[in-house]
Amino acid sequence: MERTLSIIKPDGVRKKIIGEVIRRFETAGLRIAAIKMIHMTKEVAEGFYAVHRGKFFYDELTSFMSEGPVVVMVLEGEDAIALNRKLMGATNFKEAEPGTIRADFATSIQHNIVHGSDSPESARFEIGYFFAETEIF
Ligand code: ATP
Ligand code: MG
Repeated sequence: MERTLSIIKPDGVRKKIIGEVIRRFETAGLRIAAIKMIHMTKEVAEGFYAVHRGKFFYDELTSFMSEGPVVVMVLEGEDAIALNRKLMGATNFKEAEPGTIRADFATSIQHNIVHGSDSPESARFEIGYFFAETEIF
């Protein structure tokens, strides 16, 4: 069993597709082990996306991630990291496989509805960034 961090970004919450995104995860066999809605400050978003510090999109990305509430979740299942990334689709929605979350709902590279950890190391860091062990079931 593997755990990964998922975020429904501010554009996904605004579009009222929280239920649709969660349905896709659960239908694919992922279990919601933790969930909450939060509104990140710019500083919290900067810490979360620290790996992207220095990239040209870092400031815009962290502003976007702090412009409204998001849903943060721990997903658990077999190959949860890769499975979640497959359900999400490519970062650039124009390159995302048909039927993926980003292909169906994203409106730009930036406004791409969901975040997912990309490795076991990032999953460990990202889960710990938002959840105490006592909040994961
Ligand atoms: P995420 O980390 O959000 O799951 P990802 O792993 O598919 O997405 P990353 O390369 O980690 O993609 O980029 C993080 C986020 O930064 C992207 O989801 C997107 O919102 C934004 N981003 C990435 N590349 C660009 C770009 N070229 N222009 C604008 N925004 C970008
Ligand atoms: Mg990433």
